[in-house]
Amino acid sequence: MREKKRERKKDEAAAPVEDLNPFRIAQRQFESAARYIPDLEPGLVEFLKRPRRVISVEFPIETEDGEVRTFVGYRCVHSRARGPGKGGIRYHPDVTEDEVRALAFWMTWKCAVLDVPYGGAKGGIICNPKEMSKHDQRKLTRRFVAELGDMIGPFTDIPAPDVNTNAETMAWIYDTYEMMHKGRNNLGVVTGKPVEIGGSYGRKEATSRGCLFCTQRALAKGLVPGLNSVLGATVVIQGYGNAGAIAHALYAAEGAKIVAVSDSRGGIHKPDGIDHAAAVEHKRATGSVVGLPGSKKVSNEELLKIPCDILIPAALENQIRGDNAAGIQTRLIAEAANGPTTPTADKILFDRGIPVLPDILANAGGVTVSYYEWVQNNEYEQWGEDDVNLKLHVKMERATDAVLAKQQEINGSLETLQAERTRFGHADEPLEPVDLRTSAYVLAIERVSRVTLERGIWP
Ligand code: NAD
Repeated sequence: MREKKRERKKDEAAAPVEDLNPFRIAQRQFESAARYIPDLEPGLVEFLKRPRRVISVEFPIETEDGEVRTFVGYRCVHSRARGPGKGGIRYHPDVTEDEVRALAFWMTWKCAVLDVPYGGAKGGIICNPKEMSKHDQRKLTRRFVAELGDMIGPFTDIPAPDVNTNAETMAWIYDTYEMMHKGRNNLGVVTGKPVEIGGSYGRKEATSRGCLFCTQRALAKGLVPGLNSVLGATVVIQGYGNAGAIAHALYAAEGAKIVAVSDSRGGIHKPDGIDHAAAVEHKRATGSVVGLPGSKKVSNEELLKIPCDILIPAALENQIRGDNAAGIQTRLIAEAANGPTTPTADKILFDRGIPVLPDILANAGGVTVSYYEWVQNNEYEQWGEDDVNLKLHVKMERATDAVLAKQQEINGSLETLQAERTRFGHADEPLEPVDLRTSAYVLAIERVSRVTLERGIWP
């Protein structure tokens, strides 16, 4: 035992420290993919790598108990080449400007992979909503929206929910914006609203449902030998909020067995399956899934290494890294979270033959139904839930097929691509077979760069 610990310490000491800055990670992902588009102009690469705009605002609120507290918030628009900026707003103590930049960047590529007519944006406020009353969260939201002013708008930059924000937060955003712009249809300024005020049926479940559709499609196409559907598959889910808890319900409804789940306080393992209703009720009553009767407590680190067929990270960035990827014992990873896997981990997983359905594909159901909500708002319509889910199904399958096909296309033409690179004067490392993240990026970069060139650089 002591020997093992010493070995582990030695390994950790030998391993180079991984750069976990999310924006630099996002840029590295982009750079690796751009190499597979030999004729992409270097000037365009530089342009597409940078955000169009990042705003930082510092503002006070007077809390319910009379204290004045100052907060810092960010909103970043990475691209508006294919349509208005689009992306969630996150409330979390660890929000940073670079995290918001990375999340906005990922939104651009995600919208392009799904072929929805949006660019990429994201926002966040450094705060701990778990320690704030609802009254204070509402004030925080309203003041943030007022500070952003016309930086957001139904045709320029459209927020949505993300970590620690929900339909209620979106209702406050809408209401504040509406107060500032009376007398016109402002419903499209934000998506993920409650259904009674312009929200779409199916939006709350859309991220997880899209992840399920993507998983089902990839399995049906033979991505994982011997695993053709989620029926009977064992599943581990990290994160038990909008994305994670709903994924539990939807995967279980298709016959999967959810053997472990977790939230920020830790995880639980129950090899004969965790009942969704019981876990949700336990979390409602105690604030965490930990302690669910009949389950064994595990740490979030242990949870990732539980043997399973499908691992769904649905919490935060950088959970699967160079230091733990070798211990992951799953057959497929479906990224419901944004940025859960680092580039070093991607390489380890690829070499081990574990496919990753990347975030910019697997969790794109949320923004897709946000787009449907926006269309309904602008057309004064309300579609039925079945219609929304059917449209989402078609979109997710089409995008999954396109990413799988792009991987085959690239890996089947490496020599030609390499020759093209040489012709365009790039003298660097030889091209290697790509994973699904890289192929999703290539697809997206091709789409965004095509539109950028078609529109031309203004003026
Ligand atoms: P949420 O706030 O509803 O839930 C987050 C969950 O993660 C909570 O259960 C929290 O306890 C847990 N968590 C936090 N830190 C953790 C940790 N270190 N280990 C394990 N669990 C931890 O947020 P959400 O909307 O479900 O978002 C989760 C992820 O999904 C984020 O990466 C988000 O960007 C992504 N995402 C969300 C949407 C959406 O529509 N909500 C869409 C696309 C992607």
